[in-house]
Amino acid sequence: MPGIALVTGANKGIGLEVVRQLATRGWRVFLTGRSLASVRKAASPLGASVTPVPLDITSKISIEAAFHVASQTVSHLDVLINNAGILDHDEGSIFELHPQRLRRMFETNTIGALLVSQTFLPMIRQSESGRIINVSSGAAQLSDMGTWAPAYSISKTALNGVTAQFAAALADSKIAVNSVCPGWVKTDMGGREAPLSVEQGADTIVWLATEAPQSMTGLFIRDRKPILW
Ligand code: NAP
Repeated sequence: MPGIALVTGANKGIGLEVVRQLATRGWRVFLTGRSLASVRKAASPLGASVTPVPLDITSKISIEAAFHVASQTVSHLDVLINNAGILDHDEGSIFELHPQRLRRMFETNTIGALLVSQTFLPMIRQSESGRIINVSSGAAQLSDMGTWAPAYSISKTALNGVTAQFAAALADSKIAVNSVCPGWVKTDMGGREAPLSVEQGADTIVWLATEAPQSMTGLFIRDRKPILW
């Protein structure tokens, strides 16, 4: 049955495709991003079920303003998709990693998703079957940690920690919380060499939002299957 979702960083890339697929299935979706112009432009071809809302996940004021808009518009939220993320393509090695770069990555990739989840939780608690989906990365896997993009990778490992903590804290509730690796996807972040289309990158996220068993929680998922943390 179609529900109500909010997607962060949805003005382009994987987030926009997730919104498009959910809207096609009849979902009501809040398409959010940090610039009002970009969310309006992205939402305009998608129909009346998609509401553009400005939301910069590094700003508590912006998160609270978006919560105000959503809570004045609908009674609850079924799915929150923390998709917004940043990557520096010119990251050096861990030996040169500057703490300021790591802090900047954490601010968006980890703390942003944490604050959005905390703020919207009261609306998700009103759902019959709530879900929080954190868009992580295979680069976060401690079981297979390499040397690529250390600040990005560590911030996504920490995001997976946020996922596990929320899942444990909500174990007695009806809310499922998972991390997803979308794969290497052709977007501004993934680049033109990436093998997957945005449709393929959005697949597991949309599946988790709409079809996955509600009992699936506290997992890291790629291609619709759990993978190692
Ligand atoms: P993308 O095309 O670069 O899109 C990233 C989105 O995040 C943009 O909408 C961007 O907004 C938004 N964003 C960045 N900082 C934000 C902030 N402070 N507040 C709100 N929105 C913000 O990247 P993508 O490939 O679609 O990535 C989506 C997610 O998938 C990310 O979390 C990424 O880490 C993850 N991922 C991607 C790949 C891949 O191969 N593409 C692989 C693994 C994981 P602006 O337009 O304003 O910059």
